[in-house]
Amino acid sequence: MPIQQVIPFDNSYAIQMESFYVPWEGAKVPSPAIVKFNTSLAHELGLGEKELNSKDGAEFLSGNEMPIGASPLAQVYAGHQFGGFSQQLGDGRALLIGEVIDQNNNRRDIQLKGSGPTPFSRRGDGKAVIGPVLREYLISEAMYALGIPTTRALAAVTTGEQIVRDGLEPGAVLTRVASSHLRVGTFQFFAARGDTEKVQKLADYSIKRHFKDIENHENKYLELLKAVMRKQAKLIAKWMSVGFVHGVMNTDNMTISGETIDYGPCAFIDDYKAKAVFSSIDEQARYAYGNQPNIAQWNLARFAETLITLIDPKDNDHAVKLATDKLNQFPHIYQQFWLQEMQAKLGLMNEEVDDLDLINSLYEAIEGEGVDYTKLFRRLSDAARGDSEGLLSLFTDTSRIEIWRAKWLQRLTSNDLSLKETANDMDKVNPIYIPRNHKVEEALQAAKQADYEPFKKLLDVLISPYEKREGLEAYEDAAPKDNGPYVTFCGT
Ligand code: AMP
Ligand code: MG
Repeated sequence: MPIQQVIPFDNSYAIQMESFYVPWEGAKVPSPAIVKFNTSLAHELGLGEKELNSKDGAEFLSGNEMPIGASPLAQVYAGHQFGGFSQQLGDGRALLIGEVIDQNNNRRDIQLKGSGPTPFSRRGDGKAVIGPVLREYLISEAMYALGIPTTRALAAVTTGEQIVRDGLEPGAVLTRVASSHLRVGTFQFFAARGDTEKVQKLADYSIKRHFKDIENHENKYLELLKAVMRKQAKLIAKWMSVGFVHGVMNTDNMTISGETIDYGPCAFIDDYKAKAVFSSIDEQARYAYGNQPNIAQWNLARFAETLITLIDPKDNDHAVKLATDKLNQFPHIYQQFWLQEMQAKLGLMNEEVDDLDLINSLYEAIEGEGVDYTKLFRRLSDAARGDSEGLLSLFTDTSRIEIWRAKWLQRLTSNDLSLKETANDMDKVNPIYIPRNHKVEEALQAAKQADYEPFKKLLDVLISPYEKREGLEAYEDAAPKDNGPYVTFCGT
């Protein structure tokens, strides 16, 4: 395959959505080099993987050159950031280079992140550095392995530049793959300008791309709200079930597709704590772990506002009522998805009415106990097999968990499966390996010195999270408590 044709583009946004972006080019960089290339994803996308994973391929993956068929562009969007509205954001350091149809017949965006300034860069330099690029690579691929909808990482390249951050840091570009980069903020950009025609065009495009089954519905814009709500409810339920804290749930970081996007100051909790916050800039704890379902609903309300004139063009009050009724269903929809996740984690088969209470009482039993959230579930499956030692050792005061365990084991007797079989099923959904904060940090520190081995090793661990492997004990544990609280910084 000629190197120029390694990506079989089939672009729709560039062709159909003029005035929703500006055509743009990447900045030239001195010496692009591939740090990591995702061969299996390249295969899934139908790319020329051998050609792309090469010195010449690095020219494309850094934005230095464009393959045939690319139509590089910077998308416009707006967004509520920490509750305040910015009416002009947009891709300030990213380029959508085009779309492909993957092996499963799904349309996927290919975007370069860190490819240089655009008209939307504001005061930023348009660049990315190796730490945040590899952080996004690691965590997005870990999320994928955990079965959580997410953008993916196709490649990380260094550019040969030194970029001013906390001192000088190696410049890098991430190739990100997404079902689309349509955001709540994309709708807000046009709604804020009173441009109903464009909001409608964007809604129609979104429906065609993500929700084809509602295309002929009599009120397809209300259905769009409902569909996005369901996707987000399901997504946040999955985040909560694994202890993921996004850290910056601004409306420009919330997708219409329901994929997790923009891995900046995110982290997984170690000890269970509803109030957990990791981001250095989240001073009000707006995006705390336990607050994520509420914030999702708040963001969806901002999305609903952009659709009001479409939901009922003649009667604003009626449209508001319809949208509000839908939004009010969010807590229930979310709870149903969350219940499903938790039932699987705890081996509760054949739904019973008391399951919700049982699950909630587990959280009561662990609150304030400093229990490692990830380990808890694997220790519970051990307990179902008859060995509770590991479970009880997670607690200083075991009284509450012992009472809970008895109730839970009793409940498991109404499964069709034996306790051992139930435990085996639980192990298929409860990870052993998650991106432990100190392991991520260790990998990123080494990468700053051009040592990529810890990153590659960690990635290898994370893409297979459920199966215990010998020699990986160091990846199972949280950092020793005397390391102090973990703080993340915005991934610039
Ligand atoms: P994020 O925090 O990554 O979601 O970005 C929020 C907004 O700031 C987006 O519009 C980004 O494109 C923009 N942005 C973030 N970092 C930079 C940068 N280094 N240069 C230019 N724009 C940036
Ligand atoms: Mg963002």
